[in-house]
Amino acid sequence: MDFKNVISKITKTTIDTAEVVAQTAKEGSAKIAKKSEELVEVSKLTVSINSEESKIKDIYTEIGKIVCEKHENGMYIDPDLVDQCNDVLDLKNKVKEMKNRVIQIKNKKVCPECEETLNSETMFCPKCGTNIENDITIEENDITTENVSDAEIIEDK
Ligand SMILES: [Zn+2]
Repeated sequence: MDFKNVISKITKTTIDTAEVVAQTAKEGSAKIAKKSEELVEVSKLTVSINSEESKIKDIYTEIGKIVCEKHENGMYIDPDLVDQCNDVLDLKNKVKEMKNRVIQIKNKKVCPECEETLNSETMFCPKCGTNIENDITIEENDITTENVSDAEIIEDK
């Protein structure tokens, strides 16, 4: 092997090495680009997943509401769901009682037809036109835990 040949071989090896290094760097940055593309896709997918899951939750809520309302109206529902629906009814009654207490404190009354909150001196419900007897008004220091239908019963006393 002559000197010229050796030089040319070394030069070629150097060029080859440089090409390999460049190629590796190129592949590396391609890999990094792919990785960041994937990360963007993952975060986009995560947003979509959350959005769709929230829609599912809303539909579940709607189904539950429909079933409970059917139960409340005395319609047949899956016996497995009766306990939960009764829990909902208990909670609804509790909420109603607390709302009535708030109304009582604020010296307001509730329309027995549409449940609109009215001032104590209102004679006719502005929403549904029901004639509101003044004695329906829950009196001060009166029942604290009973609801409107109970207040109606008091009329008969
Ligand atoms: Zn009304």
